[in-house]
Amino acid sequence: MPPASPAASPTPTPTATPPPTPAPFTPGAGFEISGSAADKASFNAMVGAEMARSPSFKALVEAINADSAHPTKLDLGRNQAGIFVDGFVGGKMDLTDIEKWPTDPPADHPHAMTQGQNLAHVLSEAHQKALGQAYAAAHATAIGDENRYRHDRGQTSSLRLPPNDVVLGTGGSVVFQFDNGYKEQVGRDAAGTSITGITRNEPPTPTP
Ligand SMILES: [Zn+2]
Repeated sequence: MPPASPAASPTPTPTATPPPTPAPFTPGAGFEISGSAADKASFNAMVGAEMARSPSFKALVEAINADSAHPTKLDLGRNQAGIFVDGFVGGKMDLTDIEKWPTDPPADHPHAMTQGQNLAHVLSEAHQKALGQAYAAAHATAIGDENRYRHDRGQTSSLRLPPNDVVLGTGGSVVFQFDNGYKEQVGRDAAGTSITGITRNEPPTPTP
């Protein structure tokens, strides 16, 4: 008598494996980060995640981290007085502002700005300051780094260079202008230092 065939086991339902969470970044001798323990943890997690998303961002952070002769100083906080995203002179960075941008562009706005793009700008600009650059030159270099980040993420448009990178919009907003016509209007509170909303304006359709 043949052995009994084993009972059919139910087909397992495939479960999607979530991608592993990237390790937080550990700042080395090239960084001088100040702020609360919670803000430092948020910053390190954000930097680690963006290093995993963008080779150019990873290279930027590693170059800064290796440049112990010119430490890049960032004073982390939230909703600091007078700070919109960051402050060149005092080295402040507003995590609450940065977090207003999404980590990925919304599906219906492929040219949208992201957290990582703005983080690349802040880090690059702070490093250029540490290298002795004045604001205008540091800001222009930072735009190059944020555009490299965008291209790593598959975004085809670039933030325009000064003086066409930003203009003031209605109600004290700031409008970021891209080379394909995409415009991102970032609303600000009455003090001009906290982000109240983001309006994404797709490029106009060319008329035949
Ligand atoms: Zn700048």
